[in-house]
Amino acid sequence: MNKVKIVVAGPRGRMGKEAVHLVSTTENFELVAVLDHKNDGKNLSEIDGFLGVEAPIYSNIEQCFTEQKPDVLIDLTTPEVGMYHTKTALQYGVRPVVGTTGFSEDDLKELEAICNEKELGCIIAPNFAVGAVLMMKFSKLAAKYFQDIEIIELHHDQKLDAPSGTAVKTAQMISEVRTPKSQGHPNEKETIQGARGANFEGLRIHSVRLPGLIAHQEVLFGSEGQTLTIRHDSYNRASFMSGVKLAVETVIKIESLVYGLENIIE
Ligand code: NAP
Repeated sequence: MNKVKIVVAGPRGRMGKEAVHLVSTTENFELVAVLDHKNDGKNLSEIDGFLGVEAPIYSNIEQCFTEQKPDVLIDLTTPEVGMYHTKTALQYGVRPVVGTTGFSEDDLKELEAICNEKELGCIIAPNFAVGAVLMMKFSKLAAKYFQDIEIIELHHDQKLDAPSGTAVKTAQMISEVRTPKSQGHPNEKETIQGARGANFEGLRIHSVRLPGLIAHQEVLFGSEGQTLTIRHDSYNRASFMSGVKLAVETVIKIESLVYGLENIIE
């Protein structure tokens, strides 16, 4: 069986480092290159923390794809860069596995159209942790019985987008079973702007940013005389890698865009 040839974008980042480790230690995966906006032309093994991990570093994505002809791009960068990488990958017939968060609805629609036109697989998952996927599924189940819901997502203070992709995805899954409802008192007034959080069809999303945190989320459900809390915690970034591995193994077999790990987990 041929190895899956993989390029990792954002290799020096916190997620990228884990992905490089995953790819270089998985039997059927081959790290053919990394994409970085720094260190162009060097080898990854020359960079601190990557001793013995051989892979050419490219800053130019087109040159990288032309020379290395990878099967899959794993992108763990920033929203704008990730969108550009994903579109370019599809143009080159490279299947993207995207962990980068912050893509808009329009971005997703545009990528879906390109995937359909090119009949290429692409997996975009705002959360690759299996426990987080279950937290979203359980939340959707609970939302059938509880109309009033508040999501509190908690992340490290270097995160660029808010609310988190996971919180938005959770709200979207809940909205499949919940009729939009304005929560709280009809006459409630914020004395400090933002106190009630972001409004998603009347459901509220609150974003906490603190050093020391990784990725955490609570979904709180309330009804007369009772509350239910569903919580997931990622304590390190290795927690995301079994999901990334599954996504790589899946993306090479599909011909359209899949958004959310829950759609590829049985
Ligand atoms: P990070 O540590 O800031 O890493 C991002 C990396 O991208 C940095 O090393 C940055 O380089 C690099 N970068 C910026 N522009 C680039 C370019 N043009 N080409 C190549 N690399 C470039 O962030 P992180 O915590 O690893 O997170 C990365 C992304 O994954 C974020 O969108 C985050 O929200 C998301 N995430 C997803 C999951 C999931 O399960 N799906 C889980 C956690 C995080 P510099 O260091 O030079 O700026």
